[in-house]
Amino acid sequence: MQCSKCRREAIVYQRYSGLHLCEQHFNRDFEAKAKRAIREHRWIESGDRVAVALSGGKDSSALLFFLHSLLGERRDVRLMAITVDEGIAGYRDTDLARKISEGLGVPWVTASFRDAYGITLDEIVAKKGTGLSCTYCGVLRRALMNRVSREEGVTKFAYGFNLDDEAQSVLMNVLRGDAAQLTRPVREVEGIIPRIRPFIYIPEREVALYAFLHVEGFDAAGCPYAVGALRRDVRGVLDDYTYRHPATKYSLVRLGEALRRTGTAPETVFGVCERCGEPMPGEPGREICRACQVLDELGAQGGLSPPGDGYK
Ligand code: SF4
Repeated sequence: MQCSKCRREAIVYQRYSGLHLCEQHFNRDFEAKAKRAIREHRWIESGDRVAVALSGGKDSSALLFFLHSLLGERRDVRLMAITVDEGIAGYRDTDLARKISEGLGVPWVTASFRDAYGITLDEIVAKKGTGLSCTYCGVLRRALMNRVSREEGVTKFAYGFNLDDEAQSVLMNVLRGDAAQLTRPVREVEGIIPRIRPFIYIPEREVALYAFLHVEGFDAAGCPYAVGALRRDVRGVLDDYTYRHPATKYSLVRLGEALRRTGTAPETVFGVCERCGEPMPGEPGREICRACQVLDELGAQGGLSPPGDGYK
């Protein structure tokens, strides 16, 4: 099939736009969408130090490549990558992430559950089974990523979330009836690094294609503990519906943004964890953060130590 914009051979068909695109026009279209997301949300500003949460998978590897090509020549914005090793034998291989960063000349740091918490995800699963593996993993990874980012002087934390991830999240909140989550305004909280998601307008399969075209040696395997029944169901329903109505995921992401802009949910008041000193949503009777609660529940020996000199 010929590219809809030139005579070269097409490598992708976009059902939502009706366009067949060759490699050159696909790259141009892809990068324009990511730049538009950054511009619309004012996600990157002069003086920023941007860290990519680099797992070594397709989304984060593609994001590191894209941000490096976008920011590599800028002197006023710095880029780095951070990889968290959860301790999942046969899956998480920090060497892949290190090689991808080194190949681009992007500074890379890593941190592990073992060093920070004294327990790996494999050990957590051995104790608790796989039912809540993503919950434990997510809580502990977020806390560790945030701590490492702050220590590295990061001002924006970039995630490889794509259009499919975002649309699924919006629909999951709708299905749970979680109005507060849908309408809570985004605001900055001292000590929490703001997150940016430049690929939220780009379908997952196009992010995978972009990674395939530009990144050597990314990790194509899935996590053995990925269970998340609701997300899996939502993904199936959404993929099926989008096949017949190709703009659906995009519409859901825009709906999620519009609802957040209404800001009708009460703002979360943040306090500080009495044990590790990390910021946490303040709730009556709650003194420690979710990560410390989870570590208690697991009987883990480690934990983040209180920051020595505050968040600044
Ligand atoms: Fe952690 Fe779940 Fe992601 Fe695996 S799929 S890395 S357990 S959050």
